[in-house]
Amino acid sequence: SVPGAGITLGDLPIRDGLRGKSPYGAPQLQVPVILNTNENPHPPSRALIDDVTKAVAAASEELHRYPDRDAVALRSDLAAYLSGATGTPLSVENIWAANGSNEILQQILQAFGGPGRSAMGFVPSYSMHPIIADGTQTQWVPAHRTDDFSLDVARAVATIDEHRPDVIFVTSPNNPTGGSIPIDDLRAILDAAPGIVIVDEAYGEFSSQPSAVALLDEYGAKLIVSRTMSKAFAFAGGRLGYLAAAPAMIEALLLVRLPYHLSVLTQAAARAALQHATETLGNVAAIAAERDRVAAALARLGYTVIPSDSNFVLFGGLADAPATWRQYLDRGVLIRDVGIPRYLRATIGLPDENDAFLTVSAELAATAL
Ligand code: PMP
Repeated sequence: SVPGAGITLGDLPIRDGLRGKSPYGAPQLQVPVILNTNENPHPPSRALIDDVTKAVAAASEELHRYPDRDAVALRSDLAAYLSGATGTPLSVENIWAANGSNEILQQILQAFGGPGRSAMGFVPSYSMHPIIADGTQTQWVPAHRTDDFSLDVARAVATIDEHRPDVIFVTSPNNPTGGSIPIDDLRAILDAAPGIVIVDEAYGEFSSQPSAVALLDEYGAKLIVSRTMSKAFAFAGGRLGYLAAAPAMIEALLLVRLPYHLSVLTQAAARAALQHATETLGNVAAIAAERDRVAAALARLGYTVIPSDSNFVLFGGLADAPATWRQYLDRGVLIRDVGIPRYLRATIGLPDENDAFLTVSAELAATAL
């Protein structure tokens, strides 16, 4: 056996706040149809692969040097992209970048959360928000969505007034439920918030609602909009998340970020991938059309389908969601049990993957519902 194999986690002097907690754990299984982590199912084009390869080769000439700590060139490219996509003019000082938006969120809680502070989210939502709160010793305060998983804004404001959280997470479109928050509801939350509001727009490119960056001018002292290249940009493996905020917010994050956190290779690859934004994002409409097809087919089969503004659907009416999840897996289709009783979440894949998912859904409908 390996050295140290006799030691258990319980033997280690971890903080009490981490005892009994579970790590993030979406299963990574090699099965024919993988629809469980909300990636873009379209692989990178040959042209993008070639450009990323060339950029990484050129950057490798400088591997003996540390990268640009402030990733200025990459942030400028991201500012140009996000300005174009949202119509809100943003400059390099409005953008910060990190290894995935998870690292962005962690840096925000390192700066604005911490011992004696609290973070609120509207659950069910992205499972990493409470995990990052635990990791930064920020008290997690779950507020609840309505039975149809939407946000009752009056109730949200009352809960904010009651708990006065230092940080509020609003995920739009929300993972795992799929709906976006209307901009007026967001405004009400921003007005009520005593501290920072993070709008997590990981799936922003799929949404029919305008981006919260439109509110940065008005709410610069409170608002941070988090985005990622992992979803619509088909760059999950590249690990590049970013945010848009007032320049002072980024000054705050410089206090907690590790120096040289974004490698030379990551910066070069992300910039090359961004050059292909138009082509990559051309798949967004096709994914949305597939989502609508899958949602309609599930509804016809008798499943409850939560309206989605994203690249996944939450569906339910299941007698035993964990057992049904297993039955999909036994048939080669990996979807996600997000822990909501009677519901499962399926990422939208390529048309033939969606067909495979729907074939199993049809087969299971008689017993699962
Ligand atoms: N926010 C939300 C709502 C997500 O669903 C995800 C990925 N599942 C992330 C953030 C983090 O993604 P990444 O670190 O790849 O940017």
